[in-house]
Amino acid sequence: MRPFDYQRAEDTAAARTASRAGATILAGGTNLLDLMKLEVMAPERVVDISRLGLNRITEKDGGLHIGATVTNSDLAADMRIRRDYPVLSRALLAGASGQLRNKATTGGNLLQRTRCPYFYDTGTACNKRTPGEGCAAIGGELRNHAILGTSEHCVALHPSDMAVAMRALDAMVEVEGEDGTRREVALDDFYRLPGDRPDIETTLAPGDLITGVTLPAPLEGRQQYRKVRDRASYAFALVSIAAIVRMEDGRIADATLAFGGIGTRPWRDPEMETLLKGERPSAALFAKAADVLMRHAAVHPGLEFKLTLVTRLLSATLEEMTE
Ligand code: SF4
Repeated sequence: MRPFDYQRAEDTAAARTASRAGATILAGGTNLLDLMKLEVMAPERVVDISRLGLNRITEKDGGLHIGATVTNSDLAADMRIRRDYPVLSRALLAGASGQLRNKATTGGNLLQRTRCPYFYDTGTACNKRTPGEGCAAIGGELRNHAILGTSEHCVALHPSDMAVAMRALDAMVEVEGEDGTRREVALDDFYRLPGDRPDIETTLAPGDLITGVTLPAPLEGRQQYRKVRDRASYAFALVSIAAIVRMEDGRIADATLAFGGIGTRPWRDPEMETLLKGERPSAALFAKAADVLMRHAAVHPGLEFKLTLVTRLLSATLEEMTE
């Protein structure tokens, strides 16, 4: 690891000023410190925001406000989250290990970097690490990579389980901007698609600081998070689904579905959700929904299995939730 300066921010203004001057924000550090040890990231200065009092969960407008440094463990265990947003609690518990969840924060989870192995190997070409260098993954060995939202420059997956559940819940990211005012950004507007600059992953501007996440009032219906992975724990999703389904008179009144393991950001498809709305559940309907979801898939060799996996996971989840 290269030497770096460490600063503990006294307030959010100090954190923003340091960030604008080029410092990297440190919260739980569960991803950043790995990246620094591997010299994938080599910040000259880090600014620690872990003691700014952003570690509270409070009620807001019928929903909840989650501070940026609330740990994944505390969030998953919160009774309001378990009762009203079980999809989020389950997604959090499906991610990482107990030790990591005790340190990892809400804001850090949103900003965690891809687990594309080439990104972590500084001996290979990676446009996300070094813009313009090329992408060793395309044409290389692919497994934990994306089939939706990709570009010819990058096929890296967004790795978070938490963000997938938050996408289904229409969570808003609270950001404190350069002048100190706070704004809310929908997750779809928060994450950029890779395009020709995969190194720029969010719409955050220099000096912006994530201060929290707002969950709207709980949705009616059953909630579920299902994750398929290579081993039973401590593994990233090959495919995952966050589902909120409400039935009425034997028909699907609402189906809110977000996916992990397939997109360069947590993935939702409004066209697929509209297709399901008002319909009676059936195997044919679920297969059609999967076809709609996959209509823009760009499947590089090695990732064909994801088409089958996502179709089966979607069908199994909807079958369970519409019984
Ligand atoms: Fe880098 Fe993206 Fe290519 Fe992986 S897929 S090597 S992260 S550019």
